[in-house]
Amino acid sequence: MKIKHLIIACCFVAAFALICPTAATAQDIMAGHYKKALIVGAHPDDPESMCGGTMLMLKEQGCEVVCVYFTNGEGGIPGKSEEEAAAIRHQEALNSCELMGIRPVFLTQIDGRSEINKDRYAEMKALMDAEKPDLVITHWPIDCHRDHRNCSLLVFDAWRLGGYKFDLYYTEVMSGLQSLNFTPTSYVDITPVRDLKIKAYLCHVSQNLEGNVPKFHDTMEGLRGREFQCQWAEAFQKVIWNRKK
Ligand SMILES: [Zn+2]
Repeated sequence: MKIKHLIIACCFVAAFALICPTAATAQDIMAGHYKKALIVGAHPDDPESMCGGTMLMLKEQGCEVVCVYFTNGEGGIPGKSEEEAAAIRHQEALNSCELMGIRPVFLTQIDGRSEINKDRYAEMKALMDAEKPDLVITHWPIDCHRDHRNCSLLVFDAWRLGGYKFDLYYTEVMSGLQSLNFTPTSYVDITPVRDLKIKAYLCHVSQNLEGNVPKFHDTMEGLRGREFQCQWAEAFQKVIWNRKK
């Protein structure tokens, strides 16, 4: 290649990187080849909604995936008591995890009135100590739902207290309505498992989620797919902290 052509090619690549930073810098979580992933969502249906496809892709890669429900959805069925709603939504979560072939874990927070206090910090830390994941995914912390924020902050604290033993990623749920100001750094192409993700999501029958598929999931996962050059994708932001040892 002549020098002139090489310079032109370099300029083209640099310009492309400026125009399309995603193409130049985005990471694929699958490249991490993680051994054990914990997906921590505030309510039954949150893990599947935000990254059900990634859970399935990780599982196919050989990663042990654990779906952690922060609450049992006690506040999520109008006209039902907290106990009644929790029983229904707990079973729906079990059905979803059985369909995906993924192990569920339930924490003891209450939907709509989750807490951050000394005991709750200890509870999340104990979960991480017991499970020993090398990857944890949870809610992006800027979110309109208090339970999502609380869940996210407790996971962050457990990551710090535990000595940063796992990679921590945040992800979005219904961006623009719940997650706000979310900017991805990482993606997973979920196209091969997207149908199963939606089936698992719809196991949460009490939540009447059918309308959310075209309204939120098709638009959000379609946008992330265009950003990551595939049909459907889920998006993440890795917590980067270049700590001094
Ligand atoms: Zn939620």
